[in-house]
Amino acid sequence: MRHKRYAIGADIGGTNLRVALVNREGEIVERVKTSSTNNVFDSLVSAIDRFYSDDVAGIGIGVAGVIERKKGIVKRSPNLPSVEGIGFTDGIRQRFSLPVYIENDANAAALGERWAGAGREFKSFVLFTLGTGIGGGVIYDGHLLDIAAELGHISIEAAGVRCPCGNNGCLESYASARAMTGRAVELIESGTESLMKACCEGNVYKISPEDIYSYALEGDNLARETLKTAGRYLGIGIAGAINIFSPEAVILTGGLIGAWNIYVETAIKEVSKRAFPELSGSTKILPSILKGDAGVIGAACLAFDKTRN
Ligand SMILES: [Zn+2]
Repeated sequence: MRHKRYAIGADIGGTNLRVALVNREGEIVERVKTSSTNNVFDSLVSAIDRFYSDDVAGIGIGVAGVIERKKGIVKRSPNLPSVEGIGFTDGIRQRFSLPVYIENDANAAALGERWAGAGREFKSFVLFTLGTGIGGGVIYDGHLLDIAAELGHISIEAAGVRCPCGNNGCLESYASARAMTGRAVELIESGTESLMKACCEGNVYKISPEDIYSYALEGDNLARETLKTAGRYLGIGIAGAINIFSPEAVILTGGLIGAWNIYVETAIKEVSKRAFPELSGSTKILPSILKGDAGVIGAACLAFDKTRN
C-alpha cells in the first residue's frame, strides 16, 4: 500500500491556534494561524477542512494542558480553560474519518524538535516552551516520555504567588512572559524610574516582553532587571530538570528566547550555580530550530508515528 504523503498537525496554545499540512520529511507544506480564544473547536474543524484530502494519514493535536489521552480530552488547562472537557479526538474523527491523536502542546513541540529540529542529534533532551506560560516535554532514549512534564508548575518559591493551577510559587509565575510584564508594571506603578513609563503611549498595561527587551537594550535598568529576575528563576527550573533527567541538551522555545542574551544567559549562569556540575557540565542549552512551528510539526509526527501508513 502506498504511504499517504501528509499528516495534519494542530497546535492549540493559550493565544494562537496553528494548523499545518506536514509532509514525511517534517516540512510544512501549508499552514493557517488564528486565535484560540473563541470557539476553538469550530476553528480547528474549519482549518483541518482546508487541508483534508485522501493523501492525509492522520491528524495530531497538541493542546496546552493536562491530557487524558485515552479519552482524547483535556482534563485541565489553566491558561486555556475553554478547552477543558472538549472531546477533541472523537469530535474530529467523526467529521473526517481519519485517525486522530492528542498530546500536550509542549510534548508535541518536543516531538517536533526531535524529528526535524534542534533535538535531532540528541537521544535525550528536555524542552521548555517559554511564552505566556511555561510548558515542558521530555525526550528520553529517543522517545517522548509519556508523562505530563508540567515543568512550568514546579514550585520555586515556597510562599510565592498563587498560580491558576492552584499551587503557589510556580516557575511559570516568575519566568514566563506574563510574569515579566506583570513585574515590570508593578515596579513602574511603585514609582521605580524607567524609560518604559513612556511605552505604549503611556499605557503601561500594554507593555510586551518585546518592549521590555528593546528598553533593556537601550540600557533601561528596570527592563534589564525584569529580564534578569525572570532569567534567574528560569535557571532554577532548568537546574532542577537537569538534576532529574540528566539530559544531553535542554532546548528552549517560545517567544521569550528572542531575549536570549539577557534572559537566557542569566538562566545559564544560574544553572551553573545550582545543578550538579557533573551533570550540567555536559548539558547543552540551545534554542529551538523550529520555533513556533515545533508544535504543529510534532503533532503531525505523532499522527505519522501512530498510524504507520
Ligand atoms: Zn502552577
